[in-house]
Amino acid sequence: MSERMTIRLDRTVCDGFGICAKHAPKYFSLDDWGYASLVGDGTVAEEDHDAVMRALLDCPVHAIMEVGEHRPAGTHPVSSTAVEDPAAGIKAEDNEAEWGFTR
Ligand code: SF4
Repeated sequence: MSERMTIRLDRTVCDGFGICAKHAPKYFSLDDWGYASLVGDGTVAEEDHDAVMRALLDCPVHAIMEVGEHRPAGTHPVSSTAVEDPAAGIKAEDNEAEWGFTR
């Protein structure tokens, strides 16, 4: 069984703690200022899952995220704004029928 793991790194979030590179130096490299960037395309070999997982969990600003293979790219798994029921606000407005009196 070969379970694939893919990670992403949001460099706008990264705060340069360098923890990821300490845990998984094969996958994260630090620039001169200590900010991380991904080595390779984010595909993690099976034997490195644990190290990368540790880096992911230890990142203080959660700049590293796992990308599910079945999830379409582009969706942001972090933001989870509740979707309101669109039917909740709709009011049925009855037309008031005019009552015709017959005399
Ligand atoms: S652990 Fe997080 S904040 Fe620190 S360098 Fe890595 S990605 Fe950036």
